[in-house]
Amino acid sequence: MLLWARLRSIFQTFLNLGGLFIIKGDVFMNVREPTSKFVKVRCPKCKNEQIIFGKASIEVKCLVCGKVIAEPTGGKTRIKSRILEVLE
Ligand SMILES: [Zn+2]
Repeated sequence: MLLWARLRSIFQTFLNLGGLFIIKGDVFMNVREPTSKFVKVRCPKCKNEQIIFGKASIEVKCLVCGKVIAEPTGGKTRIKSRILEVLE
């Protein structure tokens, strides 16, 4: 089944990045292990799409509106925006 394969690959992407939490409509994702992957995210405020580094050591802000979309939390990176794609 094509659909099943697609769903499974999306789910695998979340697992690779350490899990997904949905809080009040926003998608929060914690990266358990430092990853050298780039992640394409969408700003929850202005919908700007931006590619960020999965292993952020500083706050990452939206280039358009300045909203913080990822922040470091003791070795993990919390991504506070929608993940559109993980770039290998
Ligand atoms: Zn923005």
